[in-house]
Amino acid sequence: MVTWKKLSPEAIRTRVFDALQQNVNYYEENIIGIPASHLDDKVFYQDAPFLSNAPFLSTLIHNPNHIGCHTMGKSESFFKGTQEIEKELIAICAGEILKGNGDFDGYVASGGTEANMQAIWVYRNYFMKEFGADIREICILCSFDAHYSSSKAANVLNLDVASVPVREIDRSISPELVVEVIEDQKAVGKKYFITIANMMTTMFGSVDDVDIYTEALKRSGVHYRVHVDGAYGGFFYPFSTPETNLNFSNPEVSSITLDAHKMLQAPYGTGIFLIRKHLIQYANTKEASYVEGEDFTLIGSRSGANAIAVWMILMTYGPHGWYEKVLVLLNRTDWLCQRLDEMGLVYFRQEGSNIVTIKSDQISEETALRYGLVPDNHSAPHWYKAVIMDHVTIEKLEPLVADIQKIHNLKDT
Ligand SMILES: *Cc1c(COP(=O)(O)O)cnc(C)c1O
Repeated sequence: MVTWKKLSPEAIRTRVFDALQQNVNYYEENIIGIPASHLDDKVFYQDAPFLSNAPFLSTLIHNPNHIGCHTMGKSESFFKGTQEIEKELIAICAGEILKGNGDFDGYVASGGTEANMQAIWVYRNYFMKEFGADIREICILCSFDAHYSSSKAANVLNLDVASVPVREIDRSISPELVVEVIEDQKAVGKKYFITIANMMTTMFGSVDDVDIYTEALKRSGVHYRVHVDGAYGGFFYPFSTPETNLNFSNPEVSSITLDAHKMLQAPYGTGIFLIRKHLIQYANTKEASYVEGEDFTLIGSRSGANAIAVWMILMTYGPHGWYEKVLVLLNRTDWLCQRLDEMGLVYFRQEGSNIVTIKSDQISEETALRYGLVPDNHSAPHWYKAVIMDHVTIEKLEPLVADIQKIHNLKDT
């Protein structure tokens, strides 16, 4: 088993450069059969002196292709060095961050949208292949606050979506409404439910009680699979709330999406898709005959540098360092909430989250615009959200609080 331990910059450098050594070298070897090469050397420096200290930039320039899924037997041997690091990254995310036992499949996707779509694609094909389901008998079950990528996936994969309303003020789903939505769907012929549980929604940071879904689904006697959308929360909530069951310790959870390009501050193009063994096969494209080891992913060619970037971040911090970073963000979020409480304002914050969503009538549009607060709906805002990221220090929050205070004082007089 791979363990996640903080590494020194020197150890990280050595590991990545060793991996690049095991990939093909277009300069030194005679590689004639693939439509791939290093980055264009008229545009991108190949031998700048700083590159020997820059494993990520060096990987970008070597430009390895991580096409396919490397946790599934064979992969393209041209890039086996860096693909091995991606495999290790997948094992750390599934095993150590999300408490999975044993082996998992997964890959670094373009983002949370693709990872969610990959999950829905796998389960759609699974229900059709194993149960002879008609596509009209399958639906996606999620909450109103679920990310719009579930609707996008539904459109691409030709499925219906059933959304469960959430309570206005605490953004939670209720057992009664989940049962009601499932029964309504059964009444129109749905028998197979691809359920998406949120581990921090984009707008509110709210977290679904996954037991509400699984208990209702079990009682209703339908077939179902559960995917957890941790695109926002996957690198945050497991650290702020280690007792959560939105992970692979819960046998009901089959797959999870994480986005390293959100809370982990990795470059864009670093969604992570994780799934229990023996499921990703349902997304196999057998026609991908020129790819060594076939293709089980939605994307096709993708940059190996993305996997290296995420791995480097995790290794630079180690589990304790990353936990401390999460604690700092939680502390600042607490500070903001205390100020709002002192003014008696209405806002939503999920425990263990770094998003504070404030009712729109307590903030002027001008203030929202000045601080780049994002509305739930650009044409008719009900809520504005503040996201306490790395760069959002208390010093940056102070003027926002002062502006809100001014509006609040005006209202009182
Ligand atoms: C951001 C987000 C997504 C989509 O991720 P992209 O990386 O933008 O494709 C999906 N789900 C949730 C909860 C998100 O916050």
